[in-house]
Amino acid sequence: MSNQTVDKLPTVGFVSLGCPKALVDSERILTELRAEGYVISPTYDDADIIVVNTCGFIDEAVEESLDAIGEALAENGKVIVTGCLGAKKNVVVDEHPSVLAVTGPHDLEAVMAAVHKHLPKPHDPFADLVPPHGIRLTPKHYAYLKISEGCNHRCTFCIIPAMRGNLASRPIGDVMQEAQRLVDAGVRELLVISQDTSAYGVDLRYRTGFWGGRPIKTRLKELAGALGELGVWVRLHYVYPYPHVDDVIPLMAENKILPYLDVPLQHASQRILKLMKRPAETDNTLKRIQSWRSQCPEITIRSTFIVGFPGETEAEFEQLLDFLTEAQLDRVGCFAYSPVEGAAANNLPDPVPEQLREERRARFMEHQQCISAKKLHRKVGSVQTVLLDTVENENAIGRSSADAPDIDGVVHVSGASGLRDGDFARVRVTDAGEYDLFARPI
Ligand code: SF4
Repeated sequence: MSNQTVDKLPTVGFVSLGCPKALVDSERILTELRAEGYVISPTYDDADIIVVNTCGFIDEAVEESLDAIGEALAENGKVIVTGCLGAKKNVVVDEHPSVLAVTGPHDLEAVMAAVHKHLPKPHDPFADLVPPHGIRLTPKHYAYLKISEGCNHRCTFCIIPAMRGNLASRPIGDVMQEAQRLVDAGVRELLVISQDTSAYGVDLRYRTGFWGGRPIKTRLKELAGALGELGVWVRLHYVYPYPHVDDVIPLMAENKILPYLDVPLQHASQRILKLMKRPAETDNTLKRIQSWRSQCPEITIRSTFIVGFPGETEAEFEQLLDFLTEAQLDRVGCFAYSPVEGAAANNLPDPVPEQLREERRARFMEHQQCISAKKLHRKVGSVQTVLLDTVENENAIGRSSADAPDIDGVVHVSGASGLRDGDFARVRVTDAGEYDLFARPI
């Protein structure tokens, strides 16, 4: 296509903020824009209009989103806002009254309608401008696969259900088709995401769909099994600790999907979990972790926790530290409680002062760091398969089954000549740091 032709085509600039779920929304919008013949511009100057996909999860994300909108307005002037912050239209419009339109999260049609209104689509779009797997923002070799939207829980610290509504699962046939397209396009790792992966299909009453000519239930176990047949790495994220999660562990033990479970536990005190409206029973959780490990010794368990939740006492916080010692989780993230506007937990008595929340977060991280580091050191001398994210000269950065992109550690591989981005490599671990491993190909 000549530059002259490109110049005549309506051009959209895109700013994508937020979590992997928002990233998938961005990819859908970009795919649709390209399908309709719009050009996507990486700069404000070349664009006729800017779409900003925002995050509104915590106050800092709201600030970042409002700043991004302000920058797009200053640089370009024509801005459409979508995403989580779009659910709070008044916040956007109060700060930036000149935006052209504000649409909520996961609402492709509304964004496209706003774009059409302010920048009519080209008359003769070529469908083949879009590759079959759509437009992706991740490297070529891994991709997020979103299986549902929204959530049926009402955790008191979270406003996602208010912003995104109740659980709405995608039909399993659609999810599998997308997964197959991604694999055909060269993806070697699929990261399954949603707000609540273990609830997949509940809203559809586990309806039977079809994949590859055979009936298949819209349910996590069946989905994981079918994805495991595609011959790529499959990693499960945001798995709420329901009992039926136990059903996917055998698939991990049989190497059908990666032995990796990202299961947000949030706390270990029964009283705090109740205040959070989380269902887990700490004793049960420990038993289940032991059972998962006995069925699949290779399993990496990742979790996230909140400290300084309203009413959390020193004793309850210490109970959480004891839990960490006992659970020996491999990867752990920790947030100091953030009173997100609109969250029910803000009305609970005895809020923990901000300084104490931060202190507890630091103590938590220090405590867990020792556990994670010891676990990593035990891997020195072992042989691992890594997926290489970047290769430069002799040095590569890759990830093992224990490392999800962006949130976990990496494996630094030296002597990686002849290897390329997206290759799998067998390596021997030579050293370990606090979060990362060091290795050489074997
Ligand atoms: S399960 Fe996750 S998304 Fe749903 S309400 Fe709880 S924290 Fe929010």
